[in-house]
Amino acid sequence: MSYPEVKLLINGQWRNGGDAARGEVSNPATGEIIGSFAHASRADLDEALLAAQAGFKAWQAISVFDRSKIMRKAAGLMRERSEAIATLITVEEGKPLAEARMEVNGAADLVDWFAEEARRTYGRLIPSRASNVTQQAIRVAVGPAIGFTPWNFPVSQILRKIAPALAAGCSMLIKGPEETPAAPAAMFACFVDAGVPAGTLQLVYGVPAEISDHCIPSPIIRKVSFTGSVPVGKHLAALAGQHMKPATMELGGHAPVIICNDADLEAACAALIAFKFRNAGQVCISPTRFLVQDGVHDRFVEMFRDAAAQLKVGDGLDPSTQVGPLINERRLQAVERLVDDAVTKGARLETGGVRLDRSGHFYAPTVLSNVSSEMAIMNEEPFGPVALFIRFRHLDEAIEEANRLPFGLASYAWTRRQADIHALTQGVEAGMLTINHLGLALPETPYGGIKDSGHGSEGGSEALDGYLHTHFVSCLHA
Ligand code: NAD
Repeated sequence: MSYPEVKLLINGQWRNGGDAARGEVSNPATGEIIGSFAHASRADLDEALLAAQAGFKAWQAISVFDRSKIMRKAAGLMRERSEAIATLITVEEGKPLAEARMEVNGAADLVDWFAEEARRTYGRLIPSRASNVTQQAIRVAVGPAIGFTPWNFPVSQILRKIAPALAAGCSMLIKGPEETPAAPAAMFACFVDAGVPAGTLQLVYGVPAEISDHCIPSPIIRKVSFTGSVPVGKHLAALAGQHMKPATMELGGHAPVIICNDADLEAACAALIAFKFRNAGQVCISPTRFLVQDGVHDRFVEMFRDAAAQLKVGDGLDPSTQVGPLINERRLQAVERLVDDAVTKGARLETGGVRLDRSGHFYAPTVLSNVSSEMAIMNEEPFGPVALFIRFRHLDEAIEEANRLPFGLASYAWTRRQADIHALTQGVEAGMLTINHLGLALPETPYGGIKDSGHGSEGGSEALDGYLHTHFVSCLHA
């Protein structure tokens, strides 16, 4: 396939940056440079900010009924072009093509759902104390928003922001992921072709800190949304707070998986193997700390290890590949460091634990047992293909371990006992908990974390709330 020369989308035009700077894109499966993308200059950003304001007005001028139709048309175009967009995701991000197709089609479903939800943004009429007074609470779009998105789901992470923003009536400027710029550009083209006005949706790339430092303080921007690591999230949340902008933060996790003695081990193993190694573990909700009860611990570790050892690692374009490469050398080294530290401190390497001897950034699916909280990997998000196993006796211990870290994004559990389900539901500190199946990340359900994993939601009607404010009007009728 030929890789496009990626341009910026500013005020409805696809163009290069004003100072002609470009960045390079490489294929993580080969390490080869495959193309380049335009960098936005400060003047480009100023133009984009003004266009975001005009694009907000233009989008507001379209009825909710017609905005919803445009969004649905864009979702249809994404499905029509899904093969091309998915192929771009695989060559720039590395995930197997089947996963990339699921990402594009799932993202189109998300746009459809928010297009429908757009039409149900109701306000309230509040009974007043006097018969000649009406009191209305109206839901109003916050205004032009800015979003910063990462490379791990180049298309769906952006749509988790722009679908609710558009549904609420906002314009949005996205700073996309420099590692994976072409797939987002191909997805934005669907919205342009569907009739989204100039300036309503814009896409820029460049030096991330320069863009956030310049755009977040701008009085034009009324809302900030970021997906990425905890340190960058804290920095951007502070910047947004300094300028009194509401912010949604989708940050890292270190998801606990609690497997009790009565769990259906076969079902749990089949579901968790696929989910753990999806996108080579580079997923913020990736199951990471497997807390397994005494009675089934050894058997479950064995089942999981054997299944992990059989996974086929390779180039995502090869249809037989189940696990692709890590995004870059930096992430590969981070995973190596964490696994080596754990093994040095007494973890048992059940399988994997090595980088693959080939070009690209491949790391073998890895299972470590006998891990303990002194190991760095039990405290830092591995963001790679590594599963950690810890034994527990009583459920209280497992819940305590689940809550030990400052993260609180996704959590998983397998048990059939009602009392345990109740204890988990009440006791696990996480934005999301799924029990006896994998039930997270649907368009219609809330999606987000607590504690250091962030705040706000990027799913369900709660996501729309993040782009609306309440306007109260009280009127005395003469
Ligand atoms: P990162 O936080 O450094 O980068 C994430 C995104 O933020 C990138 O697109 C980057 O360009 C951008 N960014 C970085 N500094 C910025 C700044 N000052 N202003 C604006 N944007 C900025 O993370 P990474 O190293 O690329 O990815 C690995 C880590 O990111 C993981 O450890 C994980 O915690 C986190 N992550 C989380 C999610 C999620 O969905 N919550 C998704 C991807 C990555």
